[in-house]
Amino acid sequence: MNKGKVWLVGAGPGEASLITVKGLHCIREADVIVHDRLVNPELIAQAPVDCNIIDVGKTPNRHLVPQDQINQILIDHALSGKNVVRLKGGDPYVFGRGGEEAESLSQQHIPFEIVPGISSSIGGLAYAGIPVTHRDYASSFHVVTGHLCQGNEPQNWHALAQIEGTLVILMGMARQDEICQRLIEGGKSADTPAAAVMYASQQRQRIAKGTLSTLQHEIEREKIEAPALIVIGKVVNLSDVLSFISTRVDISLEPLLQTAI
Ligand code: SAH
Repeated sequence: MNKGKVWLVGAGPGEASLITVKGLHCIREADVIVHDRLVNPELIAQAPVDCNIIDVGKTPNRHLVPQDQINQILIDHALSGKNVVRLKGGDPYVFGRGGEEAESLSQQHIPFEIVPGISSSIGGLAYAGIPVTHRDYASSFHVVTGHLCQGNEPQNWHALAQIEGTLVILMGMARQDEICQRLIEGGKSADTPAAAVMYASQQRQRIAKGTLSTLQHEIEREKIEAPALIVIGKVVNLSDVLSFISTRVDISLEPLLQTAI
C-alpha cells in the first residue's frame, strides 16, 4: 500500500473561522484527525463522516497521551496509507511540539506538510485589543514558555526583565505570581502594565488587567485560569481602546467553505 501523508495543521487561537483555507481543506479531506484539547469542536465537525477522530488532549478524567505515543499514532496511520491531519491549537511550531512530530515523521520517511496557523500569542492578543508591537510602545516582542525549558532549567526571568519589548508568556498560569516577582527582581518596574487573557478569540474570552505587582490580585478577581496568555508591556494599555470582541462578527464555516473550495 502507498504511504499516506501527515499534515500538521494549525487550528488558530480558538474562533473556528480563524483557521487557514488550506487547513480547512485538509480537515475536509482527512481519513484520520489527531487533535489536541484546545482545538475548537466546530473545526472537527468539518471532517468527513467516516473520518477517524482521535483525541490526544488532556481531559479532567484522562491523562495526556505521551508524546512518543502521539508520534507513533501519526506514523502508524500514515504507513497504512491514510491522510492524517494532526490538528493543533494556534500554530503547530509555536510550543506545540510540532517540531518533534515532524522530526519523527522525517525519520520514518513519511511525507508531511506544515500548515501554519494564527498563534494565540499574536492573534489571540489582538482579540483582546492588544497589538504585540506598536510604534510608540514596543519595537519587539518575545514569546516564551512559563514552563521549565529544555533540561528542566527555569527561564532566565532576570535576563527577560531587561528586554524592552512586549513579553508574551504561554503556559504560564501555574507560575504566574512567581514569574511577575522574578521580573520585578530582575529590574522590570512593578508598574509595568500586565494582563492575562483567557480563551482569547472565543465567545468566552476574559481578561484581567493590572501591573506586574497587581496582576495576581486581578487574576483572582476575574477568575482567570488556564488556558490563558500573560502579556507584559505598555501595549496592554491599548486594550480598552482597541478591543472589539463585543462587536465582532462570527463567520460560520459553511459559507466560507463554498468560497474556499
Ligand atoms: N501552538 C499554540 C500554543 C500551544 S501552548 C499557539 O500557537 O497558540 C498552549 C498555551 O497557549 C496555553 O497554555 C495558553 O497559554 C496559550 N493559548 C493557546 N490558545 C489560547 C487561547 N485561545 N487563549 C489563551 N491562551 C491560549
